[in-house]
Amino acid sequence: MHTSEKHDLKTIYRELGISDDLMNRADVILESLTDRFAGIDETAEYNQIKVLNAFRRARISEGCLYGSTGYGYNDQGRDKLEEAYSYVFNTEDALVRPQITCGTHALALALMSNLRPGDEMLCPAGKPYDTLDEVIGIRPSKGSLAEYGITYAQVDLKPDGSFDHDGIRSAINERTRLVEIQRSRGYATRPTLSVERIGELISFVKGIRPDVICMVDNCYGEFVQTIEPGDVGADMTVGSLIKNPGGGLAPIGGYIAGTRECVEQASYRLTSPGLGKEVGASLNAMRSLYQGLFMAPTVTASALKSAIFAACMLEDMGIRAYPDSREERFDIIQQAVLEKPERLVAFCKGIQSAAPVDSYVTPEPWDMPGYDDEVIMAAGAFISGSSIELSADGPLRPPYSAYFQGGLTWPHGKAGILMACQCLLDEDARL
Ligand SMILES: *Cc1c(COP(=O)(O)O)cnc(C)c1O
Repeated sequence: MHTSEKHDLKTIYRELGISDDLMNRADVILESLTDRFAGIDETAEYNQIKVLNAFRRARISEGCLYGSTGYGYNDQGRDKLEEAYSYVFNTEDALVRPQITCGTHALALALMSNLRPGDEMLCPAGKPYDTLDEVIGIRPSKGSLAEYGITYAQVDLKPDGSFDHDGIRSAINERTRLVEIQRSRGYATRPTLSVERIGELISFVKGIRPDVICMVDNCYGEFVQTIEPGDVGADMTVGSLIKNPGGGLAPIGGYIAGTRECVEQASYRLTSPGLGKEVGASLNAMRSLYQGLFMAPTVTASALKSAIFAACMLEDMGIRAYPDSREERFDIIQQAVLEKPERLVAFCKGIQSAAPVDSYVTPEPWDMPGYDDEVIMAAGAFISGSSIELSADGPLRPPYSAYFQGGLTWPHGKAGILMACQCLLDEDARL
């Protein structure tokens, strides 16, 4: 047919600068991913209905989509959104607010509101996310938990990635009040924890001390599986709305889903003792928060497909990928070990040129505050800094790894990876 000749995929990818050779390799890889992608679609379908049921059960109405101003008393949209979150994450209650500025803030809020001077927090599965160093006081910082007399203990995973049960048992003492478990590997080299493994760890901890609060950093993990930490006994599940559960539409926010007691504590710290959840105007954010949560299962599926496709393409080019192309996934992060600074820069340039916003910008390595080495970042997002949107970054130090995540739609994720791979090939030809 006339149209299919001129308007076929090969032609439009060629216009994007992708070589026929690279397209052919991608076609072979995608052929082999049919079953895995079908599995991801099935998870998305399950989670879509889970979210739909939460909306139905909470009786979300058109009025919920409008916001409030001032104190925000009787903000029905805000309260019902929190109710819907509590159903999705299978918890008694939830705090979901635009006033929670990011993931780190949500985690800090959960910790600071539920710990008291003299308490100890324990990380039983290794060091938490970098930005918590200053929250906990691992790196001395103003306002840290350490300044309030809250101590910190840590038990690392064993070299094979398993839990150090003996170490955890001896680390738990009469002052242990809370354990923090991070689902995603983040930028560490340990494996990501499945919700099932988190459940085992929670059971083990509760078997020793039933009253210890088990808190899960759920960042990048939401909707990757059909169960969430609340389904396996977590007392608090915490995350950012500019990652998975915001579906790319939430402009800001964080959530804490958990027991009534834990959420109440967090609400008194977020606003004020006595006020708690009763105040906090939702302004104009509600429609995006609802719509984003509704879109989140399929958006997460797109990011997951993009990560797996990236791992396959990279391995095909002789580049090490973590997780590797065959591993089961429990978060949306993909690491590519690029070995040379030029290749890290080339990869990020390819991702940047595939961005819907700022595609013409060339990312350069820079000295980011809080990091020892220069960092390069590629992001051209609708929501500034959103990492559920197609993005990549990495520190300029050996082994020159790029961390890739996101993709609001699978076709966009695919195009971005193809452009990054083409940039890598072009760079290699020059080197
Ligand atoms: C992103 C992330 C955080 C922090 O979230 P920010 O929104 O960047 O503050 C914490 N933990 C993990 C595992 C993350 O991926």
